[in-house]
Amino acid sequence: MHASHTPVFPAPTPEPLPQRLARVGLRATRQRVLILDGLLTLPGHPTAEQVHQHVTRQVPSISLGTVYKTLDSFVAAGLTRRVASAEGSSRRFDADCTEHHHLFCTNTQEIIDYCDPQLDALIRDFFATKGLPDFQPRSFSLHITGDKVTGPQLRADEPPSAG
Ligand SMILES: [Zn+2]
Repeated sequence: MHASHTPVFPAPTPEPLPQRLARVGLRATRQRVLILDGLLTLPGHPTAEQVHQHVTRQVPSISLGTVYKTLDSFVAAGLTRRVASAEGSSRRFDADCTEHHHLFCTNTQEIIDYCDPQLDALIRDFFATKGLPDFQPRSFSLHITGDKVTGPQLRADEPPSAG
């Protein structure tokens, strides 16, 4: 066993897809397994259209409507979450239902997962201290909108240009 670094969270168990479906009470049909596989394989929170395209490689006859309905059933079962895009509509899907934050790139429309236990602790402490009127928070997810920085990183002594 290599122990070069200790992961903050235990690595997710690679549970077989039919078992994931069964765990939330969904029968593991071939279509459902393929759609779930698409969700897990496609990078960066795919749309139903992208999942549909992925599944048609195996099942050319599957309709976009079926993919939509199946994704809705995944969401209802708690297997998948809807994720708002930078524009706000919830057309993207996230197969990772554990608590995490999202970075929205307005240029590329990518939704990048962001995890930071220190940030989580800050948020929890803030609301534990301050509370929310008539509301009991259960989980937190930050949506941070911005632009992915490509190429050379900005230097600390060089403020970003306003352009
Ligand atoms: Zn995510």
